[in-house]
Amino acid sequence: MRRIDYIVIHCSATKPSQDIDISDIRRWHLKRGWKDVGYHYFIKRNGTIQRGRDLDHDGYVLEEVGAHVKGYNSNSIGICYEGGINELGKPEDNRTGQQKESLATLLFTLKELLPKAQIKGHRDFPNVHKACPSFEVKDWLREIKLK
Ligand SMILES: [Zn+2]
Repeated sequence: MRRIDYIVIHCSATKPSQDIDISDIRRWHLKRGWKDVGYHYFIKRNGTIQRGRDLDHDGYVLEEVGAHVKGYNSNSIGICYEGGINELGKPEDNRTGQQKESLATLLFTLKELLPKAQIKGHRDFPNVHKACPSFEVKDWLREIKLK
């Protein structure tokens, strides 16, 4: 198992009216010339958790090096939720209640497996000039009592 220091939260930067899933993101990322979708997990607006990058097709994603945060891919995993911008294209925390629930459940599970890993938002990394994931991860972790 590789070393995982960070669990990184992203948004898909899609509007609430859009309906996409991991296969769309996989298609976009393959078009960029990547080997597979860059994220390890995707959380749909209805709360469904989909598995992402799985190059060896064993159903287990944590050992895969993703492509989601510059300079930190080798020691991180990436979780993306569907949404993150409003209908005008501006950053907005529009996670549904089901998404928040699924994200919290996934994070608690991952923290049990990887107790030393730090949970961060994409924008919390140095030199990231994006709003992703459109909410303050630190504040939300405090809210759900996850450190
Ligand atoms: Zn991101």
